[in-house]
Amino acid sequence: MDIATEIDALRKELHEHNRRYYINDAPIISDQVFDQKLATLKALEDANPAFFDPNSPTQRVGGAVTKNFRTVVHKHRMYSLDNSYNRQDLLDWEARMCKNLGVTQLDYTCELKYDGASISLTYNNGQLTQAITRGDGIQGDEVTQNVKTIHTVPLKISNGPIPKEFTIRGEIVLPIDGFKAMNKLRIEQGEEPYMNPRNTASGSLKLQDSSLVAARPLECFLYQIVADRSLFNTQLEALKTASNWGFYVPKHYVHAATMNDVFEFLNIWEEKRTSLPYEIDGVVIKVNQLAFQEQLGYTAKSPRWAMAYKFKTETVETQLEGVVYQVGRTGAITPVAQLNPVLLGGTIVKRASLHNSDFIEGLDLYFKDTVSVEKGGEIIPKITGVNLKKRFPDSQRVVYATTCPECHTRLVRHPEEAQHYCPNTSGCLPQRVGRVAHFISRKAMDIDGLGAETIQLIMQNNIINSYADLYNLTVRDLIPLERLAEKSAQNITAAIAASTKVPFSRVLYALGIRYVGQTVAKKLAKEFGSIDAIANASTESLESVDEIGSRIAESVKAFFSLEENRLRIEQLRHAGVQLSQERSDEPSSTKLSGMRFVVSGVFSTFSRDELKGLIEQHGGKVSSSISNKTTYLVAGDNMGPAKKLKAESLGVSIISELQFKELLNS
Ligand code: AMP
Ligand code: ZN
Repeated sequence: MDIATEIDALRKELHEHNRRYYINDAPIISDQVFDQKLATLKALEDANPAFFDPNSPTQRVGGAVTKNFRTVVHKHRMYSLDNSYNRQDLLDWEARMCKNLGVTQLDYTCELKYDGASISLTYNNGQLTQAITRGDGIQGDEVTQNVKTIHTVPLKISNGPIPKEFTIRGEIVLPIDGFKAMNKLRIEQGEEPYMNPRNTASGSLKLQDSSLVAARPLECFLYQIVADRSLFNTQLEALKTASNWGFYVPKHYVHAATMNDVFEFLNIWEEKRTSLPYEIDGVVIKVNQLAFQEQLGYTAKSPRWAMAYKFKTETVETQLEGVVYQVGRTGAITPVAQLNPVLLGGTIVKRASLHNSDFIEGLDLYFKDTVSVEKGGEIIPKITGVNLKKRFPDSQRVVYATTCPECHTRLVRHPEEAQHYCPNTSGCLPQRVGRVAHFISRKAMDIDGLGAETIQLIMQNNIINSYADLYNLTVRDLIPLERLAEKSAQNITAAIAASTKVPFSRVLYALGIRYVGQTVAKKLAKEFGSIDAIANASTESLESVDEIGSRIAESVKAFFSLEENRLRIEQLRHAGVQLSQERSDEPSSTKLSGMRFVVSGVFSTFSRDELKGLIEQHGGKVSSSISNKTTYLVAGDNMGPAKKLKAESLGVSIISELQFKELLNS
């Protein structure tokens, strides 16, 4: 078999496995075998750049960086949809259409209205060539590289007769679980959580680095083919065709023979909407016969043959009593609306997040305003609007705080971020309390029995000033505090003492260095072995660690450059807290110590991870990119040409798998 045939066969096979896994949910090979095949293909492609294919399965991992997204005019305008809110609206719509068409009855399709970012995909000869956002409906942004990383978007279609060129539309959504997981990670790393799945989905499409998009669990649901329709006559057939071609069409659509069937579908989903793994905000009803769709045509902004039915979200009006500003552990400020308590969806709502200053400006909020409050399926109550008719003539506009509500320091806002921060990290009480709460949390030092209120109390009374002082805390210090019985005070001091056994990587996480979550802490602990090594590491050597970028490296440097942090670490050391890696993690030999390796390509006797493991086990270090600190580049088969060039230009020795083994056995 020649190389071209081999590459082609592998690509076909991987496209097919991708479809089975992501679209049909019925894989026939293990993830490991898939990864192996993908690695083989990648290696073949790297070695044979002449056979580059922008739609190869290897392109899904991303990596392309788009600095400016090109504006592209849609070949077919992307209209919005008319909205309806009740059954009568739909009956009126049906009557208008029947009159217009001179018929007495119509049939429909009912589809869920996915709440995400709309996308228009164009395929030429079965290959995805362009993905454009809706934009203003007339022109949008080309985000092809980013969309290619989404596994439910087929890059290549080979099933059945397909038009030479066609456009298909759908919605890119972020399922609720994926959204929650992303936010969990962000909070853990001291970053602000994202607002909602929809905004996060559309924001993702505009990320410059497509490998970041690849890391997000986005999905693409298709709902409309725009093409010469000789292949189908109804929307129902079009949906089935899209699904046959390999697109992901969520299975909940139905054919409704009459408007009564439509109503039945609405009844079902009004009940069940919150049980879906993704958010929907209604149902889209479309005239099923495409011939009728064509006759009905479009108004200036929407098709006459389709209607969005918006679910009633329970909305109540209440009065804004005030705005308070909460300060988080990292100093991030969250404005919170204080509301006149009101019953909503079975619970009393008194507060709603106002997110950030842009959100408040967007609402054009005044004090004492009457606002509408809604509860979305999952998320905390949100303010969706202001009733201007009920605004008091003398009320004042809500102007965002300029100083910290707790310590009165001037707030700052970084140009790239929506959030304001209190920069007084060492003096601001809620930040200090937040850091101690983080320090003792379960995944960090796991010190039980100290609630946030108790911490606040002992800090306000200057019994402790920072987490490091916890280790000097005595039962006698604690007992005078309200609510603390002798027994619980004893339990607390015992838990604090026990925490000196917590392994170093968790201690590192507990310190609360911004962007150093659990995973990063583990990496740093493993790579550097001790707190002193990390504190003294240069930005460059921090960055040479696999997956540690400049943002993390700078944050680590900033942390250790503060005198107070260094003092705290000395206190922890004095208390006997683990500040270096336990012995069990020490290398099994020191043959490779002092050497730095970069591993690239495919190896015949071990996987790349095994190779990295071997290096570390023998005292060597592995980095992801080549620098002048690199001792050896271990080159497998079909290593990328860029890596080779860089190694050569820096004079880094390139060794083969065999030479590596010799090095180990020497
Ligand atoms: P709107 O933005 O409220 O005007 O609604 C129109 C948008 O609904 C379209 O641009 C699509 O992005 C979105 N949408 C979600 N699900 C569907 C669907 N099943 N059929 C058509 N449009 C949909
Ligand atoms: Zn402050």
